[in-house]
Amino acid sequence: MKRGVIYFSLIIILFFFITNCAPLKKPEVVIKEKKYDLVIKNGRIIDGTGNPWFKADIGIKGKRIVKIGRISEKEAFRVIDAKDLYVTPGFIDIHTHCDRKISEHPEVKNYIYQGVTTIIGGNCGGHPFPLRELFEKLEKKGIALNFGCLVGHNTIRRKVMGLKMKQPTKEEMEEMKRLVDMEMRAGALGLSTGLAYMPGVYSKTDELVELASVVAKYGGIYASHIRNQGKRITDAIEEAIEIGEKNGIPVQISHIKLANDAVWGEIWRITKPVLEARKRGVEVTLDQYPYTATSSGFSSSFPSWCLEGGHEEFLKRLEDPEKYEKIKQGIIKRRLTSTKGINKLKTIYIARCKSNPEFEGKNLEEILLMLGKDPIVENGAELIIEIQKRGGAQGVFFQMDEKDVEEIMKLPFNMIASDGAVQEMGIGVPHPRNYGTYPRVLGRYVREKKIISLHEAIRKMTSLPAQTLRIRDRGLIREGMYADITIFDFKKIMDKATFKKPHQYAEGIIYVIVNGQPIIEKGKYNGKLPGMIIYGPGKK
Ligand SMILES: [Zn+2]
Repeated sequence: MKRGVIYFSLIIILFFFITNCAPLKKPEVVIKEKKYDLVIKNGRIIDGTGNPWFKADIGIKGKRIVKIGRISEKEAFRVIDAKDLYVTPGFIDIHTHCDRKISEHPEVKNYIYQGVTTIIGGNCGGHPFPLRELFEKLEKKGIALNFGCLVGHNTIRRKVMGLKMKQPTKEEMEEMKRLVDMEMRAGALGLSTGLAYMPGVYSKTDELVELASVVAKYGGIYASHIRNQGKRITDAIEEAIEIGEKNGIPVQISHIKLANDAVWGEIWRITKPVLEARKRGVEVTLDQYPYTATSSGFSSSFPSWCLEGGHEEFLKRLEDPEKYEKIKQGIIKRRLTSTKGINKLKTIYIARCKSNPEFEGKNLEEILLMLGKDPIVENGAELIIEIQKRGGAQGVFFQMDEKDVEEIMKLPFNMIASDGAVQEMGIGVPHPRNYGTYPRVLGRYVREKKIISLHEAIRKMTSLPAQTLRIRDRGLIREGMYADITIFDFKKIMDKATFKKPHQYAEGIIYVIVNGQPIIEKGKYNGKLPGMIIYGPGKK
């Protein structure tokens, strides 16, 4: 009891000491003299234009970069010493599916730990409708990084026409246009399609030209997961170009790849239509993730007719032995046939499967053996059908050739994007691109394999996506721009996520700054949510 009294008295004395001494220092006078909230000193700046690095300090006031040059430490409230580190614009990921879970996990850790400061959702034809609600929720809650979104064609078509395998009537077309217009006015950046998915797979080019005319009115872009990424990839690219060209808007070809071993090595199938269109004045750009495996739902392995009308209709069709056989053969042809050894039971993994989590991280061969079945393609197709019956699964498919990945990376109009989504640490066995895309390009393809230069890689991660998206005030280190900045150690940067163990943050990202506020400091997230919504040109 006595000891308690002594402690209490000491605290009181200390309190008086502090409160009486503090005014003598007059801290408020000093505070007013500081020109910058944050200064980054001694770093090697790669500004995002594609120019090589230069040495300068960066002064940040509020959300913006206000000075690039020599800055005294005394002028700043806070200094980050970036000696021996590279200082670049924060990475802008033009192709993600983060719209799905961002409101539940607004810190989006698997992206900020890659140095990403802006993510674009609503890709491959799917977005959360209505967009206004999502934006309002995020404005209220806060987000760690900046977020923008596209309008998904599949979402709109499904809303108006369900899962019907037919062309829209005049009324249905008008209704779809009305909804696209509504989403553009909510702040969407453009229209996305997913023409390998339901129900976009049923649509014809004319429908898409007409819908894209709505986003053209506002100055939005057209981004497409094209119909085919194998033998008919050139036709598919040309279709996307036609949609943009007829409307005079930019065309972004999503997650470009040669995803069929029959066309490996034939990069001309991509460059020919793109270069021809660019010559005509059509702004065509591409994005790519740096891996040889794709990832998508298994529904894209099915012939599109069998999924028409939704899950109940699909189940009914399976009851008919003739149709069952047709579906099975369709899957074998689409997913389990190849010429050089891809599309094998061994190269197809289950990433996420709610009905059978024990399948996650295993390939189809392992699962068949686990079930006591022969690992033959017929059984593989039946397993895929069985999984789809129980609600489907996300798969990982090894379909690409490393050489093609490298050659595509060199194309000047191609940017880096993840095609990932918000991940929860330890849940499922997702594609490692969700955790590793950007550090992997910098560590593996720039530093180790020397496929492209460091400043070219940074351009593909920053100013090129910003330019494509018409984001005029991000993607470069320039006075007046928003202070989205990534600082990394080029000697150490590397992805750690693997196909077997994807839930691992990369190494080498030291600081990440979003709108002037550090969110990653000395490699650790500090819990702040300074991100903004990136509204499109139609925002009212
Ligand atoms: Zn896609």
